[in-house]
Amino acid sequence: MHLPDPNPLHTATQQLSFYIWTRLPSAALAQPPAARARLHGTSRHLSGRRLPTREVPGTASDLALLDVLRLLKREPALSPLHRFPRRTAWRCTRCGNTSAAGFTQLPDGRTYCRLCIDMGRMTEGDILYSWRGPAPSARPARLAWEGTLTPAQQQGAAALEAAVGRGEEHLIWAVCGAGKTEMLFPALLKSLARGERAVIATPRADVVLELLPRLKQAFPETEITGLYGGSSDRDRYGQLVIATTHQLRRYARAFDLVIIDEIDAFPYTFDETLQYAVSQAARPTATTIYLTATPTNALKTRLRRRTLPYTLIPRRYHGFDLPRPRLQWIGNWQKQMEKGRVPPALRSWLESHEKAGRSVFLFVPSISSAAQLTELTGAPAVHASDPERRERVAAFRAGHIPVLITTTILERGVTIANAQVAVIGADDDIFTASALTQIAGRAGRSASAPAADVTFFHHGKTDAIVACRRYIDAMNHGRAPL
Ligand SMILES: [Zn+2]
Repeated sequence: MHLPDPNPLHTATQQLSFYIWTRLPSAALAQPPAARARLHGTSRHLSGRRLPTREVPGTASDLALLDVLRLLKREPALSPLHRFPRRTAWRCTRCGNTSAAGFTQLPDGRTYCRLCIDMGRMTEGDILYSWRGPAPSARPARLAWEGTLTPAQQQGAAALEAAVGRGEEHLIWAVCGAGKTEMLFPALLKSLARGERAVIATPRADVVLELLPRLKQAFPETEITGLYGGSSDRDRYGQLVIATTHQLRRYARAFDLVIIDEIDAFPYTFDETLQYAVSQAARPTATTIYLTATPTNALKTRLRRRTLPYTLIPRRYHGFDLPRPRLQWIGNWQKQMEKGRVPPALRSWLESHEKAGRSVFLFVPSISSAAQLTELTGAPAVHASDPERRERVAAFRAGHIPVLITTTILERGVTIANAQVAVIGADDDIFTASALTQIAGRAGRSASAPAADVTFFHHGKTDAIVACRRYIDAMNHGRAPL
């Protein structure tokens, strides 16, 4: 559908842009056309970003010219805080780091930030540039997606659409498999049609790669970029940006609509520099939307106190219940495996699914238990540092591997159409209530097989196991498990 651009500022911005590019004359128009094209490129590159000199395209004289024209904002990469009497404390502008342990010195005595060094070193004396000229004009937005939202999705979509432009926060608490991407479309369309800039931030590059083609298809007229470590879109301008949370460190005051996927996921919850990155990338008037299936306790507290508006989506897109995990006592399974035996309860569970020709997802608490189980069963295993991880998951997805053993690395994001799920040692500390809920959420995702088997093999019930089942029961009854 085509929407008229309701924002008069949009044309005002274009006029201002025209004004600046025609009034630059004495300096800029005196430049040869190639230089002017470069300047225009620099403006598109820099708009909404905050970058060190080495990441700004163009020559030193281009930069100097833009500086003279007051089109650039300069900020020191590291600023002194002077908090302690005997030594200078610092703040890193890019990642917000202020901890003394987060800084160290080069042999020449200059200080640099250690926390964001993976994106290039920020050293005392470095400058970060951002754009203060007019933003590139937005193209008209069109939503080409022709699917229909389920009643539950419609509820979430309506709440998000209403939040756009209000400058508020809103949380969507949706069960795994609710179909949250489609739920975002109406809000994105509204925001893009207003000429705004939007970002979807997610903790993992896999998700960026999965979302990018879907959004390009849904919004064919919009400039969309996907940013992650090593992405080729790094220098392109995006009206809609899909990025790993880390990449937001390259933006400042850029986005009017900020959507944070899996707000409860590692590393976002534990890394304050990522939360800082999100706050910096948002414009002060931005609307912020959080998506999660398993909110952290801190978020739940805000929901109970009604300081964060939220919408609960307790139904999957196909309308069926979440499979309720079955509990199966397994005894000291580690000891049995050390003796070279697959615990009998697990063996018969595996055999019954093998006979029926179903694929099986086996979660284990550690890399060593994954290796042990591979040795005993012959089934392949994946873990965080496994170089063949992607290939193995793809083979499992395609049905070439009947059983896949994994650590909690695959607790999120991976969707296998018809997999049965088991957790071995569900009582291990690594399986928190939210980890177990995410794992159980891998099962029954397709409409053709919504009722899958989820079994927690344990050596004693834990609070996490009980909380996970309570969550699933509450959601199946349409209640928020607060
Ligand atoms: Zn830093």
